[in-house]
Amino acid sequence: MEENKVALVTGASRGIGRAIAMRLAAAGYDVAVNYNSNEEEANKVVSAITALGRRAIAVKANAGDRGDVNAMFRTVVKELGRIDVLVNNAGVVDDAFLLMLSPDSLDRSLNINVKGYFYCAQAATLKMFKARRGAIINISSVSSLMALPGQSVYAATKGAINSMTATLARELAPYGIRVNAIAPGFIATDMVAHLPEEKIKEYLTQIPLGRLGKVEEVADLAAFLASDEASYITGQTLVIDGGLSL
Ligand code: NAP
Repeated sequence: MEENKVALVTGASRGIGRAIAMRLAAAGYDVAVNYNSNEEEANKVVSAITALGRRAIAVKANAGDRGDVNAMFRTVVKELGRIDVLVNNAGVVDDAFLLMLSPDSLDRSLNINVKGYFYCAQAATLKMFKARRGAIINISSVSSLMALPGQSVYAATKGAINSMTATLARELAPYGIRVNAIAPGFIATDMVAHLPEEKIKEYLTQIPLGRLGKVEEVADLAAFLASDEASYITGQTLVIDGGLSL
């Protein structure tokens, strides 16, 4: 009998990452639940996945730290045996007008949102090469496709991810590895809850479907991209934003 497939989802203690981890578990994957600081929430996700009859582990790692990332992949392979799907999801947003931007904030965003995606993609690919199959899903943002004041750094990090996705798709296709990105609009998570209420109301007027997205809607798309049903899709950035960017 074939071993269970294994997915690693970064930033899976909360928000979109948690929903993707749960959705992949429902699709039959064993799941490594990465978190940075919120061990309690990560353990709750692990319990919810094991209640579905799948294996799961919580792995603490700062996705923006290469040493942490490599140690995380060693743990995942030791505990769960393989890596079939990587979801690069851990990300931060630190809105600031250009002249208010601090060097620390800039470094943090670039480290987590860009370098972290590369560190994880490298480590996952090392495993996927041998299996000659795999799927990498990068969570980008609609901010990479439309200009939102205050988000120059965030937009630049997510734009980098769209470009990285397309180029890696070409590099890795000969090895059976597909690479795609998802660009969500405004999804109801802690990240959006931090926005002022007036700002959310203003954005709602610009979303044709008239509401924020649900984490489960993004998770369904991630599960599709991970699956064999998406076997001919690679290098794409798929927008899920209720029409916001139209
Ligand atoms: P969230 O609710 O703020 O959750 C962030 C998750 O990332 C948490 O699990 C957090 O772990 C983890 N994390 C943060 N920094 C990390 C690090 N250095 N290393 C490892 N994990 C880290 O965020 P979200 O809204 O679900 O966003 C998830 C992804 O979707 C991000 O890439 C974001 O840019 C993208 N996105 C979100 C929206 C939206 O509207 N929400 C829209 C477009 C794109 P801890 O719990 O341990 O802190």
